[in-house]
Amino acid sequence: MKSDKTEYEWGEGVFTLLSWFKKDRVKNARVLVTGAGALGNEVVKNLALFGIGHIYVVDFDRIELSNLTRSVLFREEDALAHSFKAEVVARRAMEINPQIKVTPIVGNLFSEVGFGLYQMVDVVIGCLDSRLARYLLNRLCMRAGKTWIDGSIENLTGVVKVYTPGISCYECGLSREEFNIIMLRTGCADVVRTQSSAGRIATTPISASIIGAIQVQEAMKVIHLDPESDNSQFKTLQGKMLRYEGMTNTTNIYRFASWKKNCPAHERWDNVVKGEGLSSSITVKQALSRLKKLLNVKALEINMRNNKFIDKIISDNPEKEFQVMLPESQLDRYIDEHAELKKLSYRTLFHKSFFENIDKDFPYKDLTLQQIGIPAFDVIQVSTDKGLFFVELSDDAAKFM
Ligand SMILES: [Zn+2]
Repeated sequence: MKSDKTEYEWGEGVFTLLSWFKKDRVKNARVLVTGAGALGNEVVKNLALFGIGHIYVVDFDRIELSNLTRSVLFREEDALAHSFKAEVVARRAMEINPQIKVTPIVGNLFSEVGFGLYQMVDVVIGCLDSRLARYLLNRLCMRAGKTWIDGSIENLTGVVKVYTPGISCYECGLSREEFNIIMLRTGCADVVRTQSSAGRIATTPISASIIGAIQVQEAMKVIHLDPESDNSQFKTLQGKMLRYEGMTNTTNIYRFASWKKNCPAHERWDNVVKGEGLSSSITVKQALSRLKKLLNVKALEINMRNNKFIDKIISDNPEKEFQVMLPESQLDRYIDEHAELKKLSYRTLFHKSFFENIDKDFPYKDLTLQQIGIPAFDVIQVSTDKGLFFVELSDDAAKFM
């Protein structure tokens, strides 16, 4: 018999046989996947097969031939065309399941993804390859009050950890030594760092598919957890880690629950003010005047928490100034693309001239918020004479629906 696709609803008669599966919850779920490498491919593939309604996938990287060995959604033509990982993952996942939406975001998860998105999703899945990225993602998820599911793979081994505000936090679990390594990588405030590429880790398609599968299974549990009722059928990994060792076929679960008092990562951004009329495409001048009216204050400044605006970089030897007019997050890329700067950066230190706070004296008020480093749908921190406010760029929300 021929199937009629207009009448077919994804998972009907398949997942609906599972006693715990709630079709509407899955269809309406929003999941943010950070990283579109080996793990990200597996994770997005499984989310698409389950029929998760809206998946967001963030990655700034392009596809290379070496990625093809462990990335189920990439093809040779993508590597030859040097396509963006996030865009290809999104397109292929919607080929697998045309009834879902997958939104790619080509950018850095910390400085180029609006915080509004972290607040809007049900759960975040981390498919990252560095401690620094995990440290930053943890801060965002704790701020937004969201559970995040961390996966890591190396050789035939893989680990899944689930961090939930109030139960477990990545930063709380860091040793002093690990913390120091992360701080070194974040660099000093006024010296341009030369980015060293992270060492390549040997992984296999097997560890990626096993760990990516467990991450999605945990995400499905988080989506089904109900604060109102008994959740005992779901044995989640919240506050625990699962370690799979492929060489010996052993799987172990360890409790690592760590939630320390006074951890700076636990700062929760609630009471976010909806900023109607605010978006990342308005100018600084418009933003300052609209914020003043919205918050009913006399004086204010926007605190650039995730990014600084760099107007100039200055080299010591030879003494020279370069006007760059860029958010700090784009500076490494900019230097890489400019031969004169790239050559210099290995021989001499650059110092930056930057703005961390944007107020009425900011000299480039005709630039848009996006241009100074505030992404679409972000939540900005605003210091005023009446105290501190968190304001969402609410006019951007439609772009992520
Ligand atoms: Zn903590």
